[in-house]
Amino acid sequence: MIKYSIKCDDCKFIFDSWFASSEEFERIKKSKLLICSFCNSVNVNKSLMTPNLNKTKKKQDIINEEKIKKFKEIKKNLKNYQKFIEKNYNYVGNNFAYEARNIHYNKDNKNVRNGIFGKATKKEIKELKDEGIDTETIPWINNKEN
Ligand SMILES: [Zn+2]
Repeated sequence: MIKYSIKCDDCKFIFDSWFASSEEFERIKKSKLLICSFCNSVNVNKSLMTPNLNKTKKKQDIINEEKIKKFKEIKKNLKNYQKFIEKNYNYVGNNFAYEARNIHYNKDNKNVRNGIFGKATKKEIKELKDEGIDTETIPWINNKEN
């Protein structure tokens, strides 16, 4: 079964009608059995899209748009977060785990005041945590991507 949106060319009334197939629609229309349910005109034609399909597509579009918008927002927030970290913390690159320990065990380390940021593996983060060193991980956006 196919649902078509039928539009009357005379009174512009739009109504839905079910057909077994598109061929059946053509057959009924040709035999002038398809009439406007408002003014009984035979001057009717199917609209390009059924309202149902239209609705579904639009809903999906809205969801996608919202997702993209959210993603952009989060990305923007992350970038702001990154900027803040880059400005306020000392970058230690791949030595993060080493420097974090340094701060933890060596309180007069120059990095203590500012704090540090850098790269660490999951294993390193777990090891630091086991030693009672708190770290925070955030997804890092590579600036080259933008
Ligand atoms: Zn009509």
